Amino acid sequence: MRFTLVVMLGLSFGLGLIVEVPASAADEAEAKRPNIVFIFTDDHCEQALSAYDPSRITTPNLDRIANEGMKFTRCYVTNSICGPSRAVIQTGKHSHLNGFIHNGNNFDGSQQTFPKLLQKSGYQTAVIGKWHLKSTPRGFDHFDVLIGQGPYYNPPMRRGSNGELKKTIKHTGYTTDIITDLALDWLKDQRDADKPFMLMYQHKAPHRNWQPGPKYLNWLDDVTISEPETLWDDYANRASPASNQTMTIKNHLSAFDLKFTTPGNLTPEQKSLWNAAYGPKNAAYQKAKGDMSKKEIVQWKYQRYVKDYLRCVKSVDDGVGRILDYLDQNNLADNTVVIYSSDQGWYLGEHGWYDKRWMYEESLKTPLLVRYPGVVKAKSVNDDIVSNLDFAETFLDLAGIEVPEDMQGHSLVPLFKGSTPKDWRQSFYYHYYEFPGAHSVARHYGVTNGHHKLIHYYQLDEWELFDLKKDPNELKSVYGANGYKQVQVDLLTELRRLQRHYKVPEDTTPLPSKKPARKQPKKAVPK
Ligand code: CA
Repeated sequence: MRFTLVVMLGLSFGLGLIVEVPASAADEAEAKRPNIVFIFTDDHCEQALSAYDPSRITTPNLDRIANEGMKFTRCYVTNSICGPSRAVIQTGKHSHLNGFIHNGNNFDGSQQTFPKLLQKSGYQTAVIGKWHLKSTPRGFDHFDVLIGQGPYYNPPMRRGSNGELKKTIKHTGYTTDIITDLALDWLKDQRDADKPFMLMYQHKAPHRNWQPGPKYLNWLDDVTISEPETLWDDYANRASPASNQTMTIKNHLSAFDLKFTTPGNLTPEQKSLWNAAYGPKNAAYQKAKGDMSKKEIVQWKYQRYVKDYLRCVKSVDDGVGRILDYLDQNNLADNTVVIYSSDQGWYLGEHGWYDKRWMYEESLKTPLLVRYPGVVKAKSVNDDIVSNLDFAETFLDLAGIEVPEDMQGHSLVPLFKGSTPKDWRQSFYYHYYEFPGAHSVARHYGVTNGHHKLIHYYQLDEWELFDLKKDPNELKSVYGANGYKQVQVDLLTELRRLQRHYKVPEDTTPLPSKKPARKQPKKAVPK
């Protein structure tokens, strides 16, 4: 920042000289602090991002971030589910400490979060899109957020600032495009150009139930998407939870998920486009169904589900392109760190599933791409174990703010520079809590070092051990098997060490096998 002083050089001359005075060192430093654009999606897995896996879709705009920056190949989430992942990112703390352990919780916005710390140090902060933490966003100069999950079309959104809701606005259009429009509006017109900024640009897509935008309703109709190797998994050779879940493409996708019913909140024009697209496709399926084998029906469902998911991703990729173009065209790209991630991974038919939750690879991993011109080398790849637990610390470090000691992750900035600290983590702790809950995935915690993985379904006291090199698809637990005794002991020791290190309380939830106590009739309470 430079400023102009009018210096009066002696009253006798009666002249004013205009002198440019260099900004102070503090102002110079302020000018150099990078902007941060955090692009975030919901349920977007690496299998649907061509920088990681080009077999199903091309995502040229997301790939730009990888091509001009760094791709992380082992970014693990601490708890593979929507709200909890967001709470971990806000706080840099595991679920048991930030208090948001499953989607039924309400985020305690009074606690320390990275946006509050950025704001306090002079950053302008905004969150636009999906929030999904129930409580009103705090620590943001501006928020424009969906209510809960939010719909794919015509979303009402809540606008406000610093924990105060100002109004709810009903938008018309496709939510992914609207979120992008609002993010661009904020970048263009609403922020203070003299301050560094941090924008959380957060999509609902491609979260269930995968409603494509008008532009892509028929995209991919004429192609067949490849099936994953494990689509026909029979869940043998593992602990019981893999068999007892309710997230199979075969049995658990609803008629609404499969687009046999039209969304109820479309405008007449949207509805007409929707029915013109899905009507003939559904009619063709109903006609052919009688002659299809059970296997062919699952294959049809897989194609329907995956294509709708990819169509939703395509609109996200378009939106990301618009944001990147804006940064380029407005001379912001060089001093803006662009980070792309999702709240967790996802099953695109692997193990026969859709959804997330498991400590298995597809849902444990989430994409992470970072572009930071002049700092991150273009086309670089990092294979270290990193996590959404590290994001808050990273944002603070980028802004030159000291990371509070009670945050549990580590700044990724040294990794961005290509120099991983010697004591960087070699193992990772995971904990999923939402049982009983949607899709019936048993509670579990576990540890992985990237080569082996130990999982404990602790309410059932069942264990799994995977040799990820020999069995990357995690189809056969070798828990208790010959040749794995030492690995098992070492991982269990590491698991307990991490639980102590992260201050994990002992679980006291009753075993689900125990019958719930019968409700006793209420006795009159003496007054
Ligand atoms: Ca999610």
